[in-house]
Amino acid sequence: MLAALGLTGCGGSQPPRPAPPRPTASATPAPRTDLAAVAARARVPVLCYHQIRNPTSADGAAARPYIVRPSVFSAQMRALKQAGYSTITGDQLVEHLLRGKPLPDKPVLLTFDDASVGQYTHALPVLRRHRFKATFFIMTVVLGKPGWLTRKQVRTLDRSGMEIGAHTWDHKAVPEYTDADWETQIDAPIRDLQRLVGHRVRLFAYPFGLYDSDAIPHLLRAGSRAAFQLADPLDRDHPLWTIRRIIVPELSGRELLREMRSNF
Ligand SMILES: [Zn+2]
Repeated sequence: MLAALGLTGCGGSQPPRPAPPRPTASATPAPRTDLAAVAARARVPVLCYHQIRNPTSADGAAARPYIVRPSVFSAQMRALKQAGYSTITGDQLVEHLLRGKPLPDKPVLLTFDDASVGQYTHALPVLRRHRFKATFFIMTVVLGKPGWLTRKQVRTLDRSGMEIGAHTWDHKAVPEYTDADWETQIDAPIRDLQRLVGHRVRLFAYPFGLYDSDAIPHLLRAGSRAAFQLADPLDRDHPLWTIRRIIVPELSGRELLREMRSNF
C-alpha cells in the first residue's frame, strides 16, 4: 500500500500530464527597453553632495544646504552601510535603466558636483573606508585653483575606482546656451576630462540641475550616454537625460534614509 502511494503520489488517479517544458534561458523574458520601462526603473536613490567641509562665518544661509561637515558626512555614510545599502556607479545605473541589468539589493548612487577639494580630502577617505563608489561631476574651470581639486586629484579619484563625469566648463546653465557655448561648456570639458583620466567620460550633470532637451544631441555627439538633473520630475520622453537626484544637506543618518525612501 505504501509502495503504491509512493508510485502514484497525490492525485494519482488523474491521467498523466505531459512534462512541463524545461526552463531555458529564453523562458525568462528580456527586460523591456522602451521609454516607459526605462522611466519605471528610475527609482534608484541618487544623492548629490557639493562641499564636504566645516562651514565658516563667511558661509551665508543660502550656502549652508550645499555644505556638509565631514563628521556629518561620515555619519551619513555609516547609516547607509548599516542599513545595508550598496553603492553603484552611474554606469551601472544606466545599464539598469536602459536594459534592466540587475543591481545589488538596496542600491544607491552617490554623486559629488563641482570639484571642491573637500570631496577629495574629506569624502574620499570615508568612501574608501566603507569600500563605497561615487561619481564626481567635475567643473573644469576650477581645477588647480585654491579650494578646488587639482588635475592629479581627479586622476587619483578615477584610479581609486571612482567615476568621473562632466559638469561643464564654468557652470553656465544649459538653458542659456547659444552657439559657441555647446563647444565651450560640453565638448571641450568632456575632451579635457577624457585626456586627464585616459578613457571615455560618458556621464553629465546639468549645472543647477537645469535641464534642456536641446542639450541631448550635443551630449550624444560628445559621447555622453546619460545626464543627471536634480529633483525636478523625470522627462518621460527622455528619462536617461533627466535622471533625478536629491541634494543632501546636514541630515542625520535616519533622516537621510527617510528622504531616500520618500523621494525615489
Ligand atoms: Zn554644480
